[in-house]
Amino acid sequence: MAHEKDKIERMTIWHAALPVRAPRDHGSGLVAGNVDVVILRLDTASGCSGFGEASPWAVFTGTAEATAAALDRYIRPVVIGADPADIPLIMANADRAIAGHTEAKAALETALLDCRGRATGQPVWALLGGRFRSEIPLSISLADPDFDADMALMAQVWEEGLRIIKLKTGVRGHAFDLERLERLRKTYPELDIRIDYNQGLQPFGALRKLKDVEQFHVTFIEQPVPGRNHEAMALFTAELETPLLADETVFSPSDAHKAVKGRLCDAISVKIMKTGGPRRGMEVAAIAESAGMPAYGGDMFESGIAHLAGTHMIAAAPNISLGCEFYQARWYLKEDLLSEPFPSDNGKVVVPDGPGLGFDVDVEKLGRYAVETRQ
Ligand SMILES: [Mg+2]
Repeated sequence: MAHEKDKIERMTIWHAALPVRAPRDHGSGLVAGNVDVVILRLDTASGCSGFGEASPWAVFTGTAEATAAALDRYIRPVVIGADPADIPLIMANADRAIAGHTEAKAALETALLDCRGRATGQPVWALLGGRFRSEIPLSISLADPDFDADMALMAQVWEEGLRIIKLKTGVRGHAFDLERLERLRKTYPELDIRIDYNQGLQPFGALRKLKDVEQFHVTFIEQPVPGRNHEAMALFTAELETPLLADETVFSPSDAHKAVKGRLCDAISVKIMKTGGPRRGMEVAAIAESAGMPAYGGDMFESGIAHLAGTHMIAAAPNISLGCEFYQARWYLKEDLLSEPFPSDNGKVVVPDGPGLGFDVDVEKLGRYAVETRQ
């Protein structure tokens, strides 16, 4: 079938504040109250529409205010009038229009893929090259300052079939980390435990602490020191038996290239909010693969819309083999923005096969949580 041209006519941007269930402590900062996301909707002349999400975290990638402004003022002119089939061209134009702002670009690419998928009747994973997997092992993160609350959540999710957790460490002292790891390991000997410092340690003295946690047989240690501490990351990779996962050290494909060349890690966390969309996320995964490193499906504080974009990317990327952490929509937000629950079952995310992202956005709910709308 020949390609029928279409044209993006309208772009709507919502800055929404989504209430969360409990506070969370991370090496890089506390999250409490609301998380701010920016939702983008594109509408075309032929009547198609697509949604995308930006989930910036101020201490990590950027702010919702800057994301909304980037989309509204700088990206809108390269989108209006464009054919939504021209995804690589539109993304290149967005890169020329504004530097950085990877979350805004992730929202844009997701909305284009959703729109294109709906227009052609294909799921987003098909547009990304086809499906490698139809289920993704799901990890939930434990980061409540009250560890008893986390243990209660753990009991609930274990009951629901979840077998992977990520413990956020490096916030309230090394003794507290060891105590929590001991309790978890003792209560759940079979649990796949990963730990994430979110850059919480300084290189000085970090190696001794990391060697201490190895006794609990964690699957990987994520980003113990600030992203720019390349020498320390390379040292830990060489010295530890436990694999080291790079998160804040690797945003872009060129960061991944440096990580591979300098052997700064054993595996890479891919997030569409760091790369600026699923296509570049797949590039990062491919660079990791070239060095024999697996990749992991990380996320930010996201609603189900961004989770779905990540899900389709992982479905199409063989090397993102360490599972994902798309748990916020169901276990962290008080209410998600999708019309139906985000698809997970028995400890796995189930890859949707409907057109586009495969799920609809509840626009009424979006309106309720919006603090600002731009058209
Ligand atoms: Mg992380």
